[in-house]
Amino acid sequence: MIDLKLFKKYILMFLVISIGLLGCSQIGTKEYKKSIFALNTYITLTAYGGKNTPDILDEVTERIVEIENRMSTEIATSDVALINKNAGKVPVEVHDDTFYVIERALWYCDMSDGAFDITIYPIVKLWDITGDNPRVPDKEEIEALLPLVDYRQVILDRDEKTVFLSKAGMGIDLGAIAKGYATDEAVRILKENGIEHALLNLGGNIAVIGDKPDGTPWRIGVRDPREEETGEEYMAIAELQDTSIVSSGDYERFLKAEYEKTGVRYHHIFDPRTGYPADVGLMATSIVADHSIDADALSTCVFIMGADRGMDFLAKVQKGNGICIDKDKYVYISSKLEDIIEITGGEYRLSK
Ligand code: AMP
Ligand code: MG
Repeated sequence: MIDLKLFKKYILMFLVISIGLLGCSQIGTKEYKKSIFALNTYITLTAYGGKNTPDILDEVTERIVEIENRMSTEIATSDVALINKNAGKVPVEVHDDTFYVIERALWYCDMSDGAFDITIYPIVKLWDITGDNPRVPDKEEIEALLPLVDYRQVILDRDEKTVFLSKAGMGIDLGAIAKGYATDEAVRILKENGIEHALLNLGGNIAVIGDKPDGTPWRIGVRDPREEETGEEYMAIAELQDTSIVSSGDYERFLKAEYEKTGVRYHHIFDPRTGYPADVGLMATSIVADHSIDADALSTCVFIMGADRGMDFLAKVQKGNGICIDKDKYVYISSKLEDIIEITGGEYRLSK
């Protein structure tokens, strides 16, 4: 015979334990945010976890600053500044981080047949679009520097961990890829510390860990590159889990005064062949990839290549999928993204 009292007691115990277990994933899971300015951009990290999460976020931001200190062209003691200073003189021994990012970057230079070229630095400096004295240089000035732009003149020594630029005046700029690496490092540290849900935004380099704490995918807006015309901040929404999305475009950093005067957008992504801002009909690209370093490099590559060549390039390298937005507001989407990206901007149409 069943003892009813005992039965009720067991049922009650079972219920208490179940509710306790159910709540476990929620108990101590709180939203924590941290914002800093680094890598020349605003960075916001949002992570969900226990009360040690602020310490983990501190560790992440320290790591981001460490990467900036190694890879910024503007910090005189950085590996990159020293490589540039010693161009045509001596090889420079660099930290493993820097060596790794340069190696990955050179792979993209090679694969893109020089559309991506980290030796673009002399041209970047000349235009100074993101600096204090931006201007449109003369054609002669640009042409005088083009012989210095050639990624094949970056000589790596794997054993010695050295980097050498073979001609004086050369310089490298990791601005198109370093944020991606920093984002990957941030994800690694958070995951190693047990964080299962997070949203990281390093100036448009976005990575998400897991899904949202409520179990639904993260909904990430793709910036409308003509926000000032359409009045919309985003032109599409991507539903993402455990991945990265990175955008490049002519709307990010450009000479505003020149644009208002002439209608030409002189922006910060250069065609290494011409030394002028890349202009192959795109306003923006966004790339979704497992690793942000790939998404970052690819978004810059595809923006320089244009929609057709860029989409073929994505299919060739198999490191990520993307969307391209052309100047007529036609949108090209990799087939693998069709189900997760929805165009929301009324003026944008899917290309045939
Ligand atoms: P992103 O915003 O990732 O597309 O990167 C743009 C930044 O990459 C610029 O601010 C430059 O520092 C650098 N850059 C510009 N043109 C190129 C290029 N053709 N290849 C590699 N890096 C570039
Ligand atoms: Mg990039």
